[in-house]
Parts: sequence; structure tokens; C-alpha cells
Amino acid sequence: MIALTDIQKEVQKTFQEFTDKHVKPVASKIDEEKQFPHTLFKQVGDLGFFGMRYPQSEGGEGLDVVSYILAVMELSRGSMSLAAACTMQSLMGTYFLYRFGNTEIKEHYFLEALKGNKIGGICMTEPDAGSDLMSIKTTATVTADGFILNGQKTWITSAPVANFFTVFARTNNHDQLSIFFVPATAQGVMIGKNIEKMGVRASLTSEVAFDNVHLPPHYLLGEIGSGTKCLREILAEIRIMTGALAIGIATAAYQDALEYANTRIQFGKPVGKFQAIQLKFADMAVKLETAKSYVLYAASLSDSNQPRQKESMIAKLYASECAASICDEASRVLASYGYATEYNMERYLRDVRFTLIGGGTSEILKINIAKEMGL
Ligand SMILES: Cc1cc2nc3c(=O)[nH]c(=O)nc-3n(C[C@H](O)[C@H](O)[C@H](O)COP(=O)(O)OP(=O)(O)OC[C@H]3O[C@@H](n4cnc5c(N)ncnc54)[C@H](O)[C@@H]3O)c2cc1C
Repeated sequence: MIALTDIQKEVQKTFQEFTDKHVKPVASKIDEEKQFPHTLFKQVGDLGFFGMRYPQSEGGEGLDVVSYILAVMELSRGSMSLAAACTMQSLMGTYFLYRFGNTEIKEHYFLEALKGNKIGGICMTEPDAGSDLMSIKTTATVTADGFILNGQKTWITSAPVANFFTVFARTNNHDQLSIFFVPATAQGVMIGKNIEKMGVRASLTSEVAFDNVHLPPHYLLGEIGSGTKCLREILAEIRIMTGALAIGIATAAYQDALEYANTRIQFGKPVGKFQAIQLKFADMAVKLETAKSYVLYAASLSDSNQPRQKESMIAKLYASECAASICDEASRVLASYGYATEYNMERYLRDVRFTLIGGGTSEILKINIAKEMGL
């Protein structure tokens, strides 16, 4: 495990206390109600989470990636729904505005998003383009006074409550993808209904359609055709962050199972005294500690600006697969109570599966890790 600085420990403590006091008590309720957690989201904004990674000169907190990752782990330990919505806002939802937005976009959207007053989403996935991002069909036709956007996106986190989007599209004069800023109120933007999901149910997700949406020239973020190159700037962080989401929920499952094993009496003693259950805890602890250490190591590479593409993929792949396995094993410790909606365990089992998909599926990551090895 990397040694944490005093500031990193302070950030961890702040989000640990916030999660225990404000998130854990309502996590099941917001999941059940499938409503966007506006109050908690704003509170997370007040804690500075959305601007943690951005420089102070740009309205952010100027903190490092390790601090951010520690905060993500804590939020996800409380509620994966809240953590998913908040990480979307703090990373993909705002990054391209920070990098390329003009003064108007920065003042009216980026800075407001850092406070949690406005909500942003990223639109990459389409009905026929998931892992294969280069096959997206959304078009931005170049006109005399900007662009006309047409297309259909799906699985867009926070779309039903979003104020603005960052949209990946293909212009008519370039093979590569470009990135556009699109206010949710622009004429021709249509938000579909919430997609019903098995997990992260309070992080709303829906389709977004663009029907002849007129965009002024400065809504192009970066240069025409620079979309995939720009995405690569934050790809490692997206993966490390998803690994942190996995660690948070695995920690919650492990802790709940431990408490249960110490209090559930069968055959005259706590079930945690049976070797079969002890072996489960040893296996879970090995997975949790090694995955957490590796995710923090990958984050530290990011902070010291070292190559981290392969390490970020290993971190995300290993953490999410370990977390899915830990939630599964932990639920067996609770047996029938791990199956009851009255306990948090069944929510962890549902929510953890999101980490196997977001930030790249395990299959895609394995292929790309092999490529990094020159295969
Ligand atoms: C809760 C949730 C929130 C999301 N939020 C957003 C969002 O805000 N914005 C956004 O743009 N998208 C979002 N997504 C979409 C997500 O990024 C995609 O689901 C993801 O990229 C995978 O695409 P897909 O589901 O279409 O799977 P597909 O790409 O269709 O894959 C299907 C299967 O085939 C495998 N596969 C695909 N290609 C290969 C290959 N070359 N070799 C081997 N195996 C392969 C995959 O691993 C998978 O097992 C979200 C998804 C979820 C579940």
C-alpha cells in the first residue's frame, strides 16, 4: 500500500465521515425510489468533490489523483448510485469543458457544475456502438455558422436531470471523432425515459436524441477530429476511478459480512468461528487489500505523470473482478439474509456489476493489456 500524505488522509477522513453520516443511512431508500439524489449530490459538490482534480486557478481544489480516488472509494462504500453520478460529473462530464470551453461555457456551465448547481453528462455510446466507439453514427455537419448535430445516444448517465452534455460525433469532413458541447435546453435535444436497470438505480440513465441541433462554432471542444486523442488524456483516470468504485462497494460488502459473521449464532457459536467461513474472509481480504493497493499505486503513477495505460487497465480489471467475487462470497456469509431486500447485501450484489462494464468491459481490457505487451 502506498504511504498516504496528511492531506490525503484528511480527504479520506472527510469523505468517510460524510458517507457514514449522510450516505449510508439513505442509500437503500434512494435505490428503491430510483430518484436522482439531488440533496446528496449538492452536498458532495459543497465538499469540493467535483473540482478536486482541477487546478485552483480554474475554480477547482488542486488536489491529486490519489486524494480523488480515496474520496471515490468512500462514496461508493455508501452508495454506488451516488458515487456513479458524482464521478460522472467530476471526470467525463466536465473534463472537456475545462480543457476547451470558452469563457461563456466555463462561467455558465463548468464552474456551476463544480459547485453541483448544474449537471453534466457524456454522450458516447449509441444503440449500435458500445465498445466499438469508432463505429458511432452521430453526425455534426459543418455549416457556414457552426454545426448541425443529428443522432441517437443511449445509456447516458444523469441524462434525465442533466443541464448539458459533451457529445462525441463525426463531422462530414473528417474520419476521426470530434467533441461538442450541447446544452440540454438546445432546440432538438430530446431526453428519453429512464432506462430501468438492475443496479445503480438512483443514478439515472437514458437515451438522448439530437434532431437538427444547431451548434455555434465555439461549441466544438478541441479540434475537428481530435476526439479520441483527447479522450486518451483521461482514459487512465476513468479506469482507475472505476477500480476505486469497485473497491468501495467491496469494502461495504466485506464489512457487513464481517459484522454478521460475528453476531449470527448457529450450532452454539458465531458463524465466523467456522473454518469454512473463515476461509472466505481470508480470500476476501487478500482480494480487497491487493486490489486496493494496486488501484492506489496506479493513481500514484498518474500523480507523478508516469506511463500508466497498462497499469490503469490492470487496476480496473482486477478491482472490478475482485469486487464482484467479494460481493458474491460476502452474500453467502449472510445466506438467506443476503438475499433479503431488508439487508444492503443484495444491493451490493446488483450494483457491483456496473463496475464490470463501465470504463471498458473485462474482455476489452484483457485484449488491450495484451496489446500493451506487444501481442
Ligand atoms: C449503468 C451504465 C451507465 C453508463 N453510462 C454511460 C454514459 O454516461 N455515457 C456513455 O457514453 N455510455 C455509458 N454507458 C455505456 C457503456 O460505456 C457501454 O455499455 C460499454 O462501452 C459497453 O458497450 P455495450 O454495452 O454496447 O457492449 P458491447 O460492446 O456490445 O459488448 C458486448 C460483449 O461483447 C464483448 N466484446 C465487444 N467487442 C469485443 C472484442 N473486440 N473482443 C472481445 N469481446 C468483445 C464485450 O466485452 C461484451 O462482453 C453506461 C453503461 C452502463 C451499464
